Amino acid sequence: MNRLDRIKGCLLGGAVGDALGAPVEFLDWNAIRASFGPQGIVDFAPAYGIKGAITDDTQMMLFTAEGLLRAYVRGSSRGICHVPGVIHHALLRWLMTQDYQPSTHVTLDGWLVKERDLWSRRAPGNTCVSALKASQRFGFFAQNNSKGCGAIMRVAPCAFFGNAFKYAAESARLTHGHPTGYMAAGLFADILQRMTDRQDSLEQALTKSLAEHGGKPGMEETRAILERVLFYFYEGYRPTPERIDELGGGWVAEQALAIGIWCALTATCLEQGMITAVNHSGDSDSTGAIAGQLLGARYGSAAIPARWYQHLEMRQVIEKIARDIERVPRDYLGYAGEFDRAIEAQYPGS
Ligand SMILES: [Mg+2]
Repeated sequence: MNRLDRIKGCLLGGAVGDALGAPVEFLDWNAIRASFGPQGIVDFAPAYGIKGAITDDTQMMLFTAEGLLRAYVRGSSRGICHVPGVIHHALLRWLMTQDYQPSTHVTLDGWLVKERDLWSRRAPGNTCVSALKASQRFGFFAQNNSKGCGAIMRVAPCAFFGNAFKYAAESARLTHGHPTGYMAAGLFADILQRMTDRQDSLEQALTKSLAEHGGKPGMEETRAILERVLFYFYEGYRPTPERIDELGGGWVAEQALAIGIWCALTATCLEQGMITAVNHSGDSDSTGAIAGQLLGARYGSAAIPARWYQHLEMRQVIEKIARDIERVPRDYLGYAGEFDRAIEAQYPGS
């Protein structure tokens, strides 16, 4: 597997997990079982009138990736760039696709925002919407105390750029002011980066990330729950709907990360891990997205079952973003002073 396989696996795997969980996001386990049988949901079912529909998790992931690419282009061409500020601008473009008006002027250039299928509300999180609506300038941190999972579910693309932990945590903080909300996001991107760039197993990546970042202020809740998950893993406890509910529903960042990691750590294959990650009473699309990103980074995009891959909404857009993440930093630097106008038009540096 090369780096592109892992990047594609991560982003497409996350989107597939999001789409698998979307129909059951607001159902508890009893209701899921009543609707889909004792195995729970194992295939795409209609959500928002579409089979294979992605939700706000994947939409915001795409705009985060766009922001990182635009920041890269700007940094390379002008040598000065505040990365979280550029990601913020991209997230405000997402806000406009949701038919909300930002408090500051937002430029609707670049290719991503012109994808009309993104202009659709998929149960966007209140915290993200209210924080983005309120923000007066790019890069300004959210003035709230939320640690909802609405930040961690979008930061995976930070794993493929330098400073993964920092950019993930700082871009999470644009909407989520509680330290657990943004520090868990930083840790998640750091874990994904170790898996992608160093081919670490998830267990190795998690252990190393905790050793490096686990002692930082604001990491207490995340470290505690992830140490519990590692204990379960070493003891051979496998996640079930009931055990996942005991860990928490995944509505807050550290729980969503813990559920995603537990399901990915114990998975026998990508498909099984993702099914486990969405069948519980909690926030199924976000835990599905997080588990899918981890499993996709580990197994690559070829491991995604065809029956999911073929019906995934926005598949081409997600693949293009993955390819651009892999190639733009290579191609754009390669011109050494001569800038690639096609790349600049797709990712204007603002
Ligand atoms: Mg969602």
